[in-house]
Amino acid sequence: MEVMHDVLVIGAGCTGMRAAIEAHDRGANVGVISKLHPTRSHSGAAEGGINAALGNTAADSPETHAFDTVKGSDYLGDQDAIEIFANEAPGDIYQLEHWGAVFSRNAEGKLAQRPFGAAGSPRTVFAADITGHVLIQVLYEQLQKRMDEGMTVYEEFFAFRLVIEDGRCTGVICWDIMNGGVELITGKAVILATGGQGRMFRATTNAYACTGDGLAMALRAGLPLKDVEFMQFHPTTMYPSGILITEGCRGEGGYLLNKEGERFMQRYAPNALELASRDVVSRSEQTEIDAGRGVNGSVLLDLRHLGAEKILTRLPGSRELAMTYSNVDPIYEPIPVRPGAHYYMGGVECDNWGRTQIEGLHAAGEVACVSVHGANRLGGNSLMETIVFGRRAGYSAAEYALAVTPGSSDGEAARADADRWVQGLLDNTKGERPWQIRDELGQSMLENFGVFRHPDKMNSQVGIIEKLRERYYAGVVIEDKGRVFNNDLTQAIELGYMLDIAACMLQAGIARKESRGAHSRPHDFPDRDDANFLKHSISHWRDDGPVLSYQEVRMTRWEPMERKY
Ligand SMILES: Cc1cc2nc3c(=O)[nH]c(=O)nc-3n(C[C@H](O)[C@H](O)[C@H](O)COP(=O)(O)OP(=O)(O)OC[C@H]3O[C@@H](n4cnc5c(N)ncnc54)[C@H](O)[C@@H]3O)c2cc1C
Repeated sequence: MEVMHDVLVIGAGCTGMRAAIEAHDRGANVGVISKLHPTRSHSGAAEGGINAALGNTAADSPETHAFDTVKGSDYLGDQDAIEIFANEAPGDIYQLEHWGAVFSRNAEGKLAQRPFGAAGSPRTVFAADITGHVLIQVLYEQLQKRMDEGMTVYEEFFAFRLVIEDGRCTGVICWDIMNGGVELITGKAVILATGGQGRMFRATTNAYACTGDGLAMALRAGLPLKDVEFMQFHPTTMYPSGILITEGCRGEGGYLLNKEGERFMQRYAPNALELASRDVVSRSEQTEIDAGRGVNGSVLLDLRHLGAEKILTRLPGSRELAMTYSNVDPIYEPIPVRPGAHYYMGGVECDNWGRTQIEGLHAAGEVACVSVHGANRLGGNSLMETIVFGRRAGYSAAEYALAVTPGSSDGEAARADADRWVQGLLDNTKGERPWQIRDELGQSMLENFGVFRHPDKMNSQVGIIEKLRERYYAGVVIEDKGRVFNNDLTQAIELGYMLDIAACMLQAGIARKESRGAHSRPHDFPDRDDANFLKHSISHWRDDGPVLSYQEVRMTRWEPMERKY
């Protein structure tokens, strides 16, 4: 069979682009598929920064970085992966800088580093508060150079089915968004780098494209997802839009106040205060709001004492967002904020090189669960994960692809089957519009599987998801019957992905009878239970539903300790 690429990368955010660069530089012929133009990938929205123990502001070491990450993960992170991550992060930062990333600098001219939540030293490297924007531009420049050397980028191609033949992943079936039509793109190795799924929740910082496509494609191909119940709620998303206000605001010294003007974090985390880990701050805010001490369902992020100069130089993007979307100038008034769905710690189970259980298929970035973040991700660690593990997946995929011969099948049968399936979706005229189901999913997930998880609400959400899935699979109507830029079609497919993942999340969440990291059950299981639940949840899809099992956490040096804030 003639294969189009050695390595095929699905996704062109920071992870996908970093993986593609590495695979190309290792000698592979690389294709990159993205449903968006690469620079519109969600990585570009990242604000606050990227963590590496450079020690430019205060003493730091990869070991301290690793320990903070293990502790922040509530001991669910795999410690061998975390050590690799922390050790390799500084080299990757210098590589990005040499490629042209304009990071902010300190008075000595070194890369500046700001404090972030639950970090033992100020280690977040940043480019003002537009770090993701800077990184994505730099990586895209590198991609463009390699396009001149033969790399192919399939922009606005929507991947919707992995091709698995004889136990190997040999390509992916896509909908060509710009021209219409079902296309097969083949590769000897495939890397999933499709990002997160935050759009499953109504209030989220995630872009409309973050719908868990890669997670669901992997699940449907028979792969396990790991730690699916862990969804991070970020403490400072703006009211009412849900747009993120970076943790950098608290890193620079911002306070959180309730409606009485009290700096309430003094009660919940007297040492770390606003820089406690995100799960702790989100729970504290939600407790204040639920107790009636909020303002319009929010609390207030106060930056006024930082002064205009600091806000204008260190946090200009946040000021602009607050002025545009909340009609508040943070130099003079506090910003209304509340917890919003932000980052998915769960993902496709893979090893430290991104290899999954299907030969030739890798995963990296937010779609993957290596696991660096365990039950709770530290701010600044995700961008770093995209680079460290994107690079490692690119290396491993190239090594594999350059050593194997292509499979025998040409994938045409899989393409033809997918074509009939899409045509069936387009031809269907009976049923509901997908957005009705999507809205109910988003609202109910927020209410029943949010910051706090109550047993009754979780049980009722299982029933809600079952009904939503029944309605969806009974047939949804795509009104746009055209082929060009048919968002109605792609959004309908994305909805199916989110429904499957939500079913897995609920099953694992109900079964995890403890509180750990972002999974908080204050009413029935308020404590962490290491004796029974220091283990990863593993979800498979069998027949028509999720099946749960468990896997040991990989420990190296750090035994679980009690959490103190
Ligand atoms: C508002 C915001 C601010 C953040 N700030 C920070 C920060 O300061 N520091 C930090 O460490 N982390 C931050 N994060 C988290 C971090 O930005 C993300 O976890 C990370 O950028 C994800 O990168 P990714 O490459 O895995 O996915 P993405 O950047 O989401 O890229 C996914 C790619 O996959 C493609 N794709 C998806 N589905 C398909 C499909 N079906 N077919 C084809 N292509 C597909 C998309 O087009 C896109 O190119 C922030 C997150 C948000 C939401």
